[in-house]
Amino acid sequence: MTRVAERPKPFVVPEYCKGCGRCITSCTKACITMGTEINPETGLIPIVLDLSQCNGCGLCFDACPEPYGLRPQGEEAAFELLDPSTVLGPRPFDAPQPEPRPDTSVPLPEREPLIVKGTYAAAVGAVLAGCRHVFGYPITPSTEGAELMARVLPELDGVFIQAVSEVATVNMMYGAGGAGKRCMTFTSSPGFSLMLEGISYMIGAEVPAVFVNVMRGGPGLGNIGPEQADIKLVCRGLGHGNTHAIVLAPATPQEMLDIAMLSFELAFKYRNPVVVVGDGYLGQMTGKVRLPRRMVEPGIPEWAVFGDHSHRGNLICSLNLSELGLEQHNVHLNEKYERMTAEEQRADLYRCDDAEILLVACNTPAQLAKGAIKELRDKGLKVGLFRPITLWPFPIEALRTLLDRVKRLVVVEASSGQLEDELRLALSHADVLPPPLSHVRRMGGILPSQDEIIEHVLGLEEVR
Ligand code: SF4
Ligand code: SF4
Repeated sequence: MTRVAERPKPFVVPEYCKGCGRCITSCTKACITMGTEINPETGLIPIVLDLSQCNGCGLCFDACPEPYGLRPQGEEAAFELLDPSTVLGPRPFDAPQPEPRPDTSVPLPEREPLIVKGTYAAAVGAVLAGCRHVFGYPITPSTEGAELMARVLPELDGVFIQAVSEVATVNMMYGAGGAGKRCMTFTSSPGFSLMLEGISYMIGAEVPAVFVNVMRGGPGLGNIGPEQADIKLVCRGLGHGNTHAIVLAPATPQEMLDIAMLSFELAFKYRNPVVVVGDGYLGQMTGKVRLPRRMVEPGIPEWAVFGDHSHRGNLICSLNLSELGLEQHNVHLNEKYERMTAEEQRADLYRCDDAEILLVACNTPAQLAKGAIKELRDKGLKVGLFRPITLWPFPIEALRTLLDRVKRLVVVEASSGQLEDELRLALSHADVLPPPLSHVRRMGGILPSQDEIIEHVLGLEEVR
């Protein structure tokens, strides 16, 4: 006779149950109800089991997100709650903690250039900037940067952790950045969207970190082709509240390295996250990358939070329940944003000296615009490229100096007009009346082609 093995019924481990209720909705026998008693160990309310109707279906085990929330009966004797102090030893409250010290610059020997793709170049730049803490969740087309870090950092006494999600990633960055560590992530558009709440917290708590967002087609999951789909998000929508971060837009693998290094400098200068936006093509594009002659050995900022009594005064938080206190904090943030706007505008000007038609583009579309300019110059047209390197703050001062001569602005971008919106906003805030403005746009993972740019310029009334 075949015996059917009895299926185990659950028991609850109250210390691991966070009272989320997922097991309650999974149980068709109504065996599980929300508890009423707060567990003093956790401050949470665990569920209560009444197994009189339980058929051992096991659905509640699958529903529970906690590895030890519900366990099969029979394991009770073997299941032992571990005391962290016996596993890890006592918390080193009184152990000597590192003293604050400044960064130091370390010379590097001259080396042959690397031939690497953009994501790798950014990873190398981050390592040379002293980043040893990288957290991430894989997402195309940014994953290679994290993969390289996962291989390299253990060799450098560093840490790479693949988090369970982007939400977990950004909160790991919050912790590492709060301890004064140079930390970063690689992500791509939908992943970046998931990080926004944490970024807002980090801006509020003034925690530095670097986010490399290799943008792909949207909205939603979109596709994995190159798009500049997140310009609006990074310039205007970094989570709730009064949030800004310096946004840098490299155009070549070399700039992915240089800008990754610069990003850490800026993140710590302002105690604020910095966002690097590339497009999917730039992330995957291979190019020659020269290594710098110096690297950074990071110091320890005096505001860093350690787990000892003497640093209690450094504890940071983005919660501020006093209305006046929160308003003052926002005034302080605004002053910081104003300093960023005054000191950090960056742009690259290509053949702008005599330009009457000015293309405005960043990332890979800027490279395509340069190709178009060479052909248009061969036809005798005075065309130049204004390439914002900082998308926020938009480099309006550099643009303003060119506009007296310019008869037409043409925005070239792989989005529905997000760069053009930033340009128009910057012109408006600066009280600058622009010349006529038109655009070449592609979306959906398609970049504007050189031919499309040339055709557009040749069709302008200023040229005909
Ligand atoms: S094993 Fe099935 S019947 Fe028993 S408590 Fe879990 S979900 Fe309900
Ligand atoms: S699903 Fe797990 S964590 Fe959530 S209430 Fe049930 S036992 Fe607790």
